[in-house]
Amino acid sequence: MAAYDALMAFQRQTEALASIAGRLGWDQETIMPRGAAEQRAEEIAALEDVLHARRTDPRIGEWLAKAEAQDPVAEAQLRHIRRSYERTVKIPARLATELARLTSRAQGIWAEARANEDVAAFLPVLRQVVDLRREEAACLATDGALYDALLDDYEPGATGEELSALFGRLRPRLVALREAVLGADNPPAPLSGTYDGATQTRIARELALAFGYDLNRGRIDTSVHPFSSGSGSDVRITTRISERDPFNCFYSTIHETGHAAYEQGIDPAYAMTPLGQGVSMGVHESQSRIYENQLGRSRAFTGWLFGRMTDGFGAFGIADAEAFYRSVNRVSPSYIRTEADEVQYNLHVLLRFDLERDLIGGTLDVADLEEAWNTRFAADFGVAVDKPSNGVLQDVHWSVGLFGYFPTYTLGNVYAGCLYKALRAEVDGIDAALAEGDAGPAVAWLRDKVQRHGGLMEPREVITQATGTAPSEAPLLDHLDAKFGEIYVL
Ligand code: ZN
Repeated sequence: MAAYDALMAFQRQTEALASIAGRLGWDQETIMPRGAAEQRAEEIAALEDVLHARRTDPRIGEWLAKAEAQDPVAEAQLRHIRRSYERTVKIPARLATELARLTSRAQGIWAEARANEDVAAFLPVLRQVVDLRREEAACLATDGALYDALLDDYEPGATGEELSALFGRLRPRLVALREAVLGADNPPAPLSGTYDGATQTRIARELALAFGYDLNRGRIDTSVHPFSSGSGSDVRITTRISERDPFNCFYSTIHETGHAAYEQGIDPAYAMTPLGQGVSMGVHESQSRIYENQLGRSRAFTGWLFGRMTDGFGAFGIADAEAFYRSVNRVSPSYIRTEADEVQYNLHVLLRFDLERDLIGGTLDVADLEEAWNTRFAADFGVAVDKPSNGVLQDVHWSVGLFGYFPTYTLGNVYAGCLYKALRAEVDGIDAALAEGDAGPAVAWLRDKVQRHGGLMEPREVITQATGTAPSEAPLLDHLDAKFGEIYVL
């Protein structure tokens, strides 16, 4: 067998095993019996051992040396396999095991520290996590850029410096818009009352279908934190029900549908290969965000949702579709990133990006992290952090070693801004369809321009090719200024 075919046959089995590992994770977050936790940890560890051995199998190096790509698809497959192989073999097995053990322990310590509002209890283990991730980055970095080496895992090709420049252009306009919005007279009314869970579940399903989710190759369950999982013919999403806050359920569902639709939309010929998944976290987030915000929170679509909610819950205290649109897009002060609206969300991310880049770069000491957080929060949000669970202890990411992940959230928003501008210029009838509860025309364009390509191109190239121009922060900022300027009469 030719080297390329042998390599791809081996790779397909690795992908299948990785897919099984992902399914175990889905099960754990949804329907696994509580008492199975320890057995599940053992099952996952055993599977991870097998996966690590396959990913570092010396035959991959031999096949890669001999394999020849006959077409652009094969070329892209080899690029992905080579990249992953070279990364994996650079990290000593001892370090990989130590990291896995430490981050699993650190997550428990973080959860307890957060519950007790005790930053000091978390810092020693956080210091160990930072040290180990820096050691890992040093193994991977070619030019001493430690943060970039970690970032590369989530957003191949991006650099901390380039993102820092991009975010530096975003920040002043976001701070100014936030101030103007929160200082405006006559803010939109919030939702009040309670909303039956079964009806929320029914509407959530309608929303997923409106955005093109294929339930024949997917399913919707509930979990503490909504997520999407899988690729190809089995892509599942979860949502959550809060009786007082149906928007949480509805917009989590649309967000996760965006992630899932990306995976479901990839060319089936790429299934069970490195091209058969979303190309980066940033591009993934661009899909979930454009579904959720630019489309799902639009005046046209919220007009339809208002009708569905009125049918499902009866009159619920919002006078008409216009008041409902303003209510969906209400901006209110909050300490918490995951609850943030379109205006404030990126400010939360920018704060974390700057701090984690300094932590990994060695210019910020773990001991000074809380103070740095609180100072920055006061500068951007105009209020003092009242307790650690509303500040430096709020996110799980750093405890589990996810450094370099946060910026992909904002990069996704920036990409979504670029895609939405191009979409509006190229496709007619988007609003008319959205007003009927149909995101079809918009989704079809995204599928054609972004989703079907999977990992064929580099992340930045996907956006450039889809929009015809290099990514920039301007479309996102213009969208936010126009939308919230109108809602808040600025
Ligand atoms: Zn997401």
